[in-house]
Amino acid sequence: MSDRDLLLYDHQHRVRRGMSITVRTGIRLRRPVCCVLAVLMLSLALSGCASGTKAVRERELFAMDTWMTFRAYGGHAEPALSEITEMIGMLDEALDPDRAESEIAAINRSAEPVTVSADTAALLKNALTLSDSMDGALCLTLSPVIRAWGFVSGEYRIPAPEELKSLLARADDTQVRLDGSTVTTPYGMELDLGAVAKGYAADRAAALLREHGVTSALLDLGGSTIRTLGTKPDGSLWRIAIRDPEDAQRYASLVEIGEGAVDTSGGYERFFVGEDGAVYWHIIDPATGYPAQNGLLSVTVLTDDGFTGDALSTALFVMGKERAISYWRENGGFEFIMLHESDGILVSEGAAAVFVPQGRYRDADVTVIRHEQ
Ligand code: AMP
Ligand code: MG
Repeated sequence: MSDRDLLLYDHQHRVRRGMSITVRTGIRLRRPVCCVLAVLMLSLALSGCASGTKAVRERELFAMDTWMTFRAYGGHAEPALSEITEMIGMLDEALDPDRAESEIAAINRSAEPVTVSADTAALLKNALTLSDSMDGALCLTLSPVIRAWGFVSGEYRIPAPEELKSLLARADDTQVRLDGSTVTTPYGMELDLGAVAKGYAADRAAALLREHGVTSALLDLGGSTIRTLGTKPDGSLWRIAIRDPEDAQRYASLVEIGEGAVDTSGGYERFFVGEDGAVYWHIIDPATGYPAQNGLLSVTVLTDDGFTGDALSTALFVMGKERAISYWRENGGFEFIMLHESDGILVSEGAAAVFVPQGRYRDADVTVIRHEQ
């Protein structure tokens, strides 16, 4: 099996100037290795186009706290990738709550109405709609709680129960008012669109590529959000790797897809080990203020658009397996692969047809979840 389309990233989180940032290790940290691998990747990609007919263009950038790699095929790819780079930079500037001049920071500072860009308004509108339908699992105003755990500063700590209780009182998405492009939140409320921003950016990037006439592209926004356009130039499916939650160097499974999105949420992305020896990670259950610990190690969602997949993967991770399965049965419109600490792989019937377990997950129990009980 060719590794050409496999995406596997080793994310390590470093703290720099009080900001938690994601660094792609191995490739990024050592220049000579970086160059060799870049040449290798490029030549692999180019050898791919030898069998098809389209030239490939590739772009890498660091945005939204992660390394992104965009690969697009065909003659119009270059200008499209330039526009995407600019668009993602603007989104990042608008959405990063830790940039004083960002739109989200302006909303969080003020109890007065704040006018935002069309992108921020559209993202917020869609995100609020989804948050409303997710039984409290997705909460866009959880920022004070997320900060209290140190997941923004990197100064990790376990907040006292009373502190969490009072911070949770400031988290309520129903209090966010969006009128056209004007956003109003009560004093003390803080928005954080980190659970959905990359998915939205992926869809905007895919739309830009289409506008430029590109019909084949693979967009990787940090490994956890993958968006594809069309199929590979030779008409075959993309093969996307989902990492092993316990080992960043290994795959847990592959999925083969045409056009669509593959979004994964997992505790391994950002976590710390407390003095009590327990692992505390960055996906928080809004019902308790504590990290969502329900046996799930990661949730991958396969869907048509990156935004929905990004929101769902985070929310299903919070829900835990039973609620996640019920949500899927009631709403449909997506497929999932859930890796569970004791139950192996739980995979929806649609995803079962396109996924191939890898590594130690080859021997894992696989339970196919069907719509009909
Ligand atoms: P993702 O990697 O897409 O699953 O998003 C995780 C990020 O979303 C975290 O780093 C937090 O910033 C934020 N987050 C954590 N828990 C929640 C939640 N229950 N609802 C919405 N956002 C959350
Ligand atoms: Mg998400």
